[in-house]
Amino acid sequence: MAMQFIDLKKQYEFIKDSVQKRMAAVIDQTHFILGPEIPILERKLAEYTGTSYCVTCASGTDALLLSLLAKDIGPGDAVFTTTFTFIATAEVISLVGATPVFVDIDRKTYNIDAYKLRDEVLKVKEGSSITASFPKNLVPKAVIPVDLFGLCADYDAIDAVAKEFGLFVLEDAAQSFGAIYKGKKACSFGECAATSFFPAKPLGCYGDGGAIFMNSRAMFDIIRSLRVHGQGADKYENVRIGINGRLDTLQAAVLLAKLEIFENEMQWRQSIAAKYSAQLKIKFVVPTVPEGYRSTWAQYSILNDSRKEVITRLKYKGVPTAIYYPKPLHLQNAFAFLGYEKGQFPVAEEVVDKIFSIPMHPYLEEREQDMIIDVLLKD
Ligand SMILES: *Cc1c(COP(=O)(O)O)cnc(C)c1O
Repeated sequence: MAMQFIDLKKQYEFIKDSVQKRMAAVIDQTHFILGPEIPILERKLAEYTGTSYCVTCASGTDALLLSLLAKDIGPGDAVFTTTFTFIATAEVISLVGATPVFVDIDRKTYNIDAYKLRDEVLKVKEGSSITASFPKNLVPKAVIPVDLFGLCADYDAIDAVAKEFGLFVLEDAAQSFGAIYKGKKACSFGECAATSFFPAKPLGCYGDGGAIFMNSRAMFDIIRSLRVHGQGADKYENVRIGINGRLDTLQAAVLLAKLEIFENEMQWRQSIAAKYSAQLKIKFVVPTVPEGYRSTWAQYSILNDSRKEVITRLKYKGVPTAIYYPKPLHLQNAFAFLGYEKGQFPVAEEVVDKIFSIPMHPYLEEREQDMIIDVLLKD
């Protein structure tokens, strides 16, 4: 079979019995919405991440949205985030009526640069212009750092800025479930964290899914209410405006099966990444993993000045690649109303022209790894 970028079929072969048994049990009970698997999964996820509470939900995007709703973020609020991320991170800021304020990235980790974050917060606070058409009189309220490709953002540096300006920190851990930063697991940073169980993420289900993690009981109660139409103590009492954002019980069954092998998969990802980096570093800019970090390797991304030729050569040999992300968010049409221009975030703008990702999943065989490396190192 052709080489896969992320091989979900091979993983399924591994867990088939457990997945089928657990899914059949859900169907036998016909408890499809908020069935007993949901709280069991939530307890396991909280335990794994070292957080007090977990609320599962319908997607990573909903996890971000529910977090902003819980903190009453809305019109007039500035929410800072990296320009180098998936659209969902910034989309939810606009959805609640707040204004995204983009920040350039660190050259080595590709994550939000905490020094530049402070500069952008100061600009908003002092009312100095970000762009000619930028909304005026915004109040700095929150920051959404993203753990890009599975590597945690620098939370010590970000928390210092957040503390100075009283910002709410929401960790976008969509790609980093399983990552470690200075002894603590991803999903445990900030006031709350959002992850995604989209099938291709490090912990994926068989459809859409997500979760929010937090240590505050009050926040837990609000997010659980928001997830089901803002319900109060009684099902048909509504105390706030919410959404229908529940995770399916069938997806919880899949995730419970996958959790059993998750730590093994993390180890396999580490060995593949170590091999890639050791050999590819002579010709490519390979990922930087600072001391005290463990990446989930949601993507293994490298830089090269002649990306196009390299990708073509790989394709010719049957090796799939992907570009995450070809355009920084400040230059996306969806955010044209903010008036950002090319040249405003030079590091992200340079990286998007050179970066590409090669196959990375726990079931990538030794001979496949060797073949990919061979093709990349030729010439
Ligand atoms: C995948 C992803 C999301 C959104 O998750 P969905 O489950 O697809 O809604 C948000 N942020 C980042 C960084 C992502 O990679």
